[in-house]
Amino acid sequence: MSSLDYDIIVVGAGPSGTTAARRCAEKGLKVALIEKHEQPGMKVCAGGLDSRVIEDFDISKDIVQCHTETYRLYGSSGRIAIKEVESATVYRRDFDQYLAARATDAGATLLTSTRCLGVLREGDRVKGVDVKTSEGKKRIKAQIVIAADGFNSVTAKSAGLQTSYHPRDYGLTVQREIRVASGVQRSAKHLFYGRDVSRCGFGWIYPKRSSYTVGVGCLVSRIEKNQLVRNLEYLIRRHPIGSRILTDSTHISKVQAAPVPLKLSPKMFGNGVLVTGDAAGQVSPLGGNGIYYAMKAGAMAGETAANAIIHEDVSASALSQYQKEWTLVFGEDLKRQKRILELVEPWYNLYMEAKILLDSHASIKKIVSKGRNPARSLLRLRWREFKD
Ligand SMILES: Cc1cc2nc3c(=O)[nH]c(=O)nc-3n(C[C@H](O)[C@H](O)[C@H](O)COP(=O)(O)OP(=O)(O)OC[C@H]3O[C@@H](n4cnc5c(N)ncnc54)[C@H](O)[C@@H]3O)c2cc1C
Repeated sequence: MSSLDYDIIVVGAGPSGTTAARRCAEKGLKVALIEKHEQPGMKVCAGGLDSRVIEDFDISKDIVQCHTETYRLYGSSGRIAIKEVESATVYRRDFDQYLAARATDAGATLLTSTRCLGVLREGDRVKGVDVKTSEGKKRIKAQIVIAADGFNSVTAKSAGLQTSYHPRDYGLTVQREIRVASGVQRSAKHLFYGRDVSRCGFGWIYPKRSSYTVGVGCLVSRIEKNQLVRNLEYLIRRHPIGSRILTDSTHISKVQAAPVPLKLSPKMFGNGVLVTGDAAGQVSPLGGNGIYYAMKAGAMAGETAANAIIHEDVSASALSQYQKEWTLVFGEDLKRQKRILELVEPWYNLYMEAKILLDSHASIKKIVSKGRNPARSLLRLRWREFKD
C-alpha cells in the first residue's frame, strides 16, 4: 500500500462531490476527488435541472439539452394541469463531467476508477480512505473526508453515519432513453400520475435535443413484484398521452434502475467527516429531485471543511456547523415534505388528482385564496366553461 496526502478527500464525483471539491480547491486546499467509475456522470437520472441550479451555480448553456417552459401534469382521469415554470434538462454524463472539470480547474485532483472501500480511522477520528484501483489497494490520508458517494454510501456507513432505510423511506426508479423519428417537443416536461403509472410516485417524459428520457418511480413499500417495469412499458406503449408523445420511436435503450433516498440522515458529520447529497438523503420526498440540494449541500460542506482546516479544528463540533446551516436553509422543508408523503401515502393518487384538479383550474385557486364565495364563483366558472 502506498501513501498519499491531501487536506480533503471528497468521495464521489456527482453534483455534490464536485461542488464540494471545487469550493475547497478555490480556498487553496489540496483536494482529491475520487470516483469509482472511469469517468463521472454514469448516474441513472432524468437530468431535470430547476432554474436555481442554473442561476446559483452559473451553469453554461452549452451543456443544457433543452430549456423547458412548462410542466404538464396528467392525472388518471385525463385531467391536465399546466404549470409555467422555467427549467432545463441535461445528460448527467455531460453535466457531471462539466462540474468535475470546474473542480479540477480550481485545483482539485480527480482520481477516476478509484473505489472507496471505507474510511481510515485513527482513534475516534476519520483520517482518510482505503481505496481500490486497477493497481490494487491504496490508503489515502487527509484531514477531512467528505462522503458524497450517493445512496447507501459506503463511506458514510464505514464512518458510523449510516441511515437505516425502511421501504417507506426510499423509492425505486426505472428509466429508458427513447429516440423518436418525428422530432422532440422541447418546451415541456411531462409528469404522469395515477395507479396505472405508479401506486405511490409518478412517471416522467423529459425532452433532450434528440430523444426523450422516460421513467417511472414508486415508493419501495408500494411496489408489487415486477410492476415497475410493466408500468414503464405501459407509459411508453399504451398510456393515452405518453404513447402519443413517444409515437414513431426509432430506438429504445435498455431499462436502467436506481434507488432514490427520501429520508434525511439524522447525523451528517463526525470527527473529520461530512456527508452530503444522496448519501445524506438530501432529496425532495415529493418531487424526487436532488441535484439542487446535493449541490447546495456540497457547497456548504466544502465551506465548513475549508474553514475547519484553516482554523485547525476538524472536530465533530467544528464540522457540525454544516448540518446546522443545512437544516436552517432546507432541512425543515424536506422534513415537512416527508411528513406529507407519509400522511397521503395510502391515498397518494387521490391526493395528486385533487392537486391537479386545483392546478388545472387556476381560477378555483384564486377563489379559494381570495376567500370569495366558492359556490357562486364555481357556478360562474362552470357557466364560462359551458359557454366556451
Ligand atoms: C432515475 C432517477 C431520476 C432522477 N431525476 C432527477 C431529476 O430530474 N432532477 C433532479 O434534481 N434529481 C433527479 N434525481 C435525483 C438525483 O439524481 C440525485 O439526487 C443526485 O444525483 C444526487 O447527487 P450526489 O452527488 O449526491 O450523488 P450521485 O449523483 O449519486 O453521485 C455519487 C457519485 O459517487 C460515485 N461513487 C459511489 N460510490 C463510490 C465509491 N465507493 N467510491 C468512489 N465513488 C463512488 C458514483 O459513481 C457517483 O459518481 C433522479 C434520480 C434517479 C434515480
